[in-house]
Amino acid sequence: MADARAKLLAQFIESLRVEPGAEVKLAKDFDPGYKASFLKKKDGATILQAGVEVLAEYQARLAAQDTWGVLVCLQALDAAGKDGTIRHVMSGVNPQGVRVSSFKVPSAEELDHDYLWRYARRLPGRGEIGIFNRSHYEEVLVVRVHPELLARQKLPAAARGTGVWARRYAEINDWERFLADNGFKVVKLFLNLSKEEQRIRFLRRVDLPEKNWKFSAADARERKYWGDYQAAFSEMLSNTSTEWAPWYVIPADHKWFARVCVSAVLAHALMEIDPRYPKVDAARQQDLAETKALLEAEAPKGAAPDPARAELTARAKEEQAAKENKQARKQRKRMKRIVEKLAEAKQSGR
Ligand code: AMP
Ligand code: MG
Repeated sequence: MADARAKLLAQFIESLRVEPGAEVKLAKDFDPGYKASFLKKKDGATILQAGVEVLAEYQARLAAQDTWGVLVCLQALDAAGKDGTIRHVMSGVNPQGVRVSSFKVPSAEELDHDYLWRYARRLPGRGEIGIFNRSHYEEVLVVRVHPELLARQKLPAAARGTGVWARRYAEINDWERFLADNGFKVVKLFLNLSKEEQRIRFLRRVDLPEKNWKFSAADARERKYWGDYQAAFSEMLSNTSTEWAPWYVIPADHKWFARVCVSAVLAHALMEIDPRYPKVDAARQQDLAETKALLEAEAPKGAAPDPARAELTARAKEEQAAKENKQARKQRKRMKRIVEKLAEAKQSGR
């Protein structure tokens, strides 16, 4: 099963990845309305299920191994669906292993430090998945589109002069390289929304009373800068997609498809880390055996010495049966079929 899923997820996300060094022009290279029409909605459900399963399983192993951490950076314009994506994709995961950090307009204290400071303070620990709802990439996006924000950062003249964006790209790449070298995988997702879909979603926020709280007139006014943002995103993607931390561009006009994509990218990242439950050493095994003997000796008259053992055996049998049952076989077949469809689509330039 693990193999079928790995292949499916890897194949599915391939077309979303920005090749390191590629020159990206968003409008030309990535369609926000894309939803792989050769896949049926049922195929989408199969991929999402595989993704959610893998995430739950591998997150538990990641936490147990306590060696690697994962940092997920979510970037997007307003109403692209960052919040909903986090809610849906992480639904199967143990909340103890996940921490979400949202970044807003920086505080006075934050502006008193270097521009990466506030992000560094929220990095996940080993065994954890940290999600940045907006991230250090705001420092080359909103700050680039609105030069007055850069002015507020109290930088020395040389640091805000010519070449500031090229320098920031290089600094961010180096920072992520440093994190990767130290056991922290950075997964970067850009939810790519069209201007028309954003208009519709803003109107929904205006029209539906329970969505009013989410609407901000300032967000709508920001549409004036749409072109500037597209240019800033394109430059960001061209300059900061690296071998150690590539960008994924997620088509965001169809929410269900965006969630399938995000779940697949995250699951794939965890599969690449392939965390393992720690092995117990000989001394500890000896310890366990002695404790077992003691506990078994305490069994009351007539009770089985180790009822837990029987439970485990029964569970293992059940799991084996589940792996071999008709439904699981059908699921694997479906995955194989989707992988074939993806390969065909790729050959014919989809
Ligand atoms: P939201 O995430 O929609 O609640 O809004 C957060 C706001 O904070 C957005 O308008 C962002 O543009 C803004 N913001 C996030 N990071 C920065 C930053 N580094 N500098 C200035 N504004 C920021
Ligand atoms: Mg907002």
